Amino acid sequence: MKLVESTWKSGQTLPPQLAAHFPNSPLKVNNDTGINVLVDLAHQCAFATMWGLPGKLHSLGFRSIVSHASLDTVLTPGKFSRMRIPISKADDGKAIRAFGWVPNPRFNVVITLQSDPNAQSYLPEERAALDSFVKNGGGLVIVDNGIGRQKKQLAAWADQSLATTFGVDFKSFIAGKSNTLLGPAWQVTPAISRRVVGKGRVVLVSSFKEIESDKKASKQEAAAKQAVLKEIVTWAAGGSAPVGGEARFSQTQGGGGGIYPELEERLKGAVVYYARNQKANLLQAVRQELPKITDSLYAWLPSPVPQEPMVIILAAGGGGGWAVNAFYPKETGVISLDTVGLFGVFAHELGHTMSGPRNAKGETAANWFDGNQGEAHAGWWQGKILAIYSKNKSMRDCNDVFKFDKNAAELDLTQKQEKGKAWKKLWWIWQKLDDRYGTTLTRSRLERIAFQGKTIELPVAPLQVSPAGNARHDPIGDYTKPVPLR
Ligand SMILES: [Zn+2]
Repeated sequence: MKLVESTWKSGQTLPPQLAAHFPNSPLKVNNDTGINVLVDLAHQCAFATMWGLPGKLHSLGFRSIVSHASLDTVLTPGKFSRMRIPISKADDGKAIRAFGWVPNPRFNVVITLQSDPNAQSYLPEERAALDSFVKNGGGLVIVDNGIGRQKKQLAAWADQSLATTFGVDFKSFIAGKSNTLLGPAWQVTPAISRRVVGKGRVVLVSSFKEIESDKKASKQEAAAKQAVLKEIVTWAAGGSAPVGGEARFSQTQGGGGGIYPELEERLKGAVVYYARNQKANLLQAVRQELPKITDSLYAWLPSPVPQEPMVIILAAGGGGGWAVNAFYPKETGVISLDTVGLFGVFAHELGHTMSGPRNAKGETAANWFDGNQGEAHAGWWQGKILAIYSKNKSMRDCNDVFKFDKNAAELDLTQKQEKGKAWKKLWWIWQKLDDRYGTTLTRSRLERIAFQGKTIELPVAPLQVSPAGNARHDPIGDYTKPVPLR
């Protein structure tokens, strides 16, 4: 048990032999069909597929798991998937669900979605793995918005779409050499088409809306879409016998996986998980820039490296993220196609793990309403990094403070305030301090202090109520020495 604890606490994924002692409990689904479904998120991570689809599949008698890993790793027999596995409970009562390498399950059907042609590609190895999966009897449901587009919008899909691996020829159609996107092998209906490939079956769905109803949908509409989903998964699974047996699949439970990305970059205080099909600019960002950002933050804010690194998941597609604090190890998911946004989120999350210098007793110096490692603190480090990589050189547009606090004297930070405004004001104050004293000063105001039997009055720093300068990135001095009043 000690080995298990030291392994996960150091940010490592438990090796297969160790992970095997902590299996997930078998999934219980209604009217179990024994059909195993992999829901692929590695080519676009949408909340509706990550958190919405598994429950719907389970209610229809299918067993499912979501996956952020590149498809060839997950579909190759004998390889391993990174899953959360149940270990025990922490002292605070929260569950410890460590990462462990678990033998790849077998699947009858893969469902994959891509609605943004700029999202992460299907690698040649992934296409080959899917091709052989299907030819050997597997079912593949491709939700591909390209199929449903007008002719002039199709160019973006010509190379990107997974459907091209299964005979859909965007280029001939766009060039007018073919008057249909789908050749004679396809059984075509307006929104959902299908064909047999080898022993297996491929279904093309032109939009996720065909199989997914949102919360506003009427009961009737929702039931109709459930019926469509059931029919296409059942048909797709028809080329192979249901896997059956126990499905010990890790479920997301508000986190990101399922199956987590297969690659990792280990940094001070953080481990980043990412799939091999990540975009070249994001891969370069992860491998080259994140270590630099980590070094900069630790140089500006000397802090003990936390025992338990934070886990960051680079998900596919754009537009959001998630955070897990309900169980251990904690994780942060980033869904961003933009490197600047990624750097900012990374700096923010790393900032949350950095407490600053300790005194001789090993304690941190200060605390305030927002928490010593709270949101304003994390946002400040995010601001420093954003100012390096983006065109906006300000500290989080902190001079906007004057829009709601004209003289910077109205918004009282000793009282509870609207968070966004309080953060902006804090960033403005800290930036003013950075402007005047350089990056060394990180102390809050002390009015007086007892020193060797005498009370020393400490004057207010003479800061002008005026716009702050840009974010600063110069190295800090010796923070253990007093700062002269300037
Ligand atoms: Zn935060």
